Amino acid sequence: MSYDVVIVGGGPAGLSAALALGRARKRVLLCDAGARRNAAAEHIHNFVTRDGTPPQEFREIGRRQLAAYPSVEARDLRVEAIAGTRGAFQVTSAAGTVEARRILLCTGLIDEPLAIQGFRELWGRSIYQCPYCHGWEVQDRRWGYLARGVQFLEFPLLLRGWTRDVVVFTSGAFDVQADIRARLGAAGIHVEARPVARLIARDDRLEGIQLSDGATIRCEVLFAHPPQRQVDLVRTLGVALDDDGFVQVDPMRRETSVPGIYAGGDLVSRMQGAILAAASAMQAAAMLNHELTAELVAGGGAGGPE
Ligand SMILES: Cc1cc2nc3c(=O)[nH]c(=O)nc-3n(C[C@H](O)[C@H](O)[C@H](O)COP(=O)(O)OP(=O)(O)OC[C@H]3O[C@@H](n4cnc5c(N)ncnc54)[C@H](O)[C@@H]3O)c2cc1C
Repeated sequence: MSYDVVIVGGGPAGLSAALALGRARKRVLLCDAGARRNAAAEHIHNFVTRDGTPPQEFREIGRRQLAAYPSVEARDLRVEAIAGTRGAFQVTSAAGTVEARRILLCTGLIDEPLAIQGFRELWGRSIYQCPYCHGWEVQDRRWGYLARGVQFLEFPLLLRGWTRDVVVFTSGAFDVQADIRARLGAAGIHVEARPVARLIARDDRLEGIQLSDGATIRCEVLFAHPPQRQVDLVRTLGVALDDDGFVQVDPMRRETSVPGIYAGGDLVSRMQGAILAAASAMQAAAMLNHELTAELVAGGGAGGPE
């Protein structure tokens, strides 16, 4: 079987790219399997027309809309390997190997849970990474921020837009310089340096944070930025990553360092959100479609399904 494009990953990024390429009459295989970033979240917010939609429903709507485009095939398959070069890639999954002219990586990122008792269970329920996504629902409560380094200490100032009551937990892992402490203090933000021992929950919701000396601090919502990593497939492809571990792409064309392999969505950027991922992959799709169409028509083809 031969496709113009194989898209790896069927989250907001992959679905958006598949829609654009289907409407551009390209033969597309969308493969999706495995963990997705917002699996723990109850609702997607801040995506216009989809505010409050459960993540699974969001994907089902995306798949339903793709079904209107006969040149797009969406399958629940994990891509295990990609070989070959621009114009002639071989993509292998449990269903066998197919050919593709271009690859579009929309594989998202993996969040590595922090090693704090209770973190994994509360992630997406009482622990969030983005106040634009989940701040509104929990505004004006007591919020905490688990800071992993001094470079993260601008973030709690942003949180003040949603609540007056913010505590920063450093676990004493780094020093907070006097000027930063003063800025936080002026915003009414307390810095707690005693190490966090565990998170206390009731009915799957955070109630408090127990410190190593046994003291408990009341806290209903936590924000955190756990470390992130690329999925294994991306690591095996040899595409260049930047210093922060994001896949490097040409800012306009969205091509990676490996010719013919493009990328869009969370895996390329610290600015992570469903609508941003969809837009970034749509850009990649448009850019690679332009190239592909030029190539096909130059060879005498129609530029669409023959
Ligand atoms: C807890 C939480 C809550 C969030 N809430 C919101 C919110 O309310 N609003 C918002 O805008 N954003 C939210 N986000 C961020 C949002 O989920 C991401 O920005 C968005 O999902 C990124 O889309 P993506 O398509 O790039 O990646 P993903 O949605 O992660 O999709 C990537 C897909 O690729 C698949 N994949 C990976 N490797 C392979 C492979 N080898 N073969 C086949 N498939 C593969 C994965 O299984 C996954 O399904 C939240 C994130 C988290 C962690």
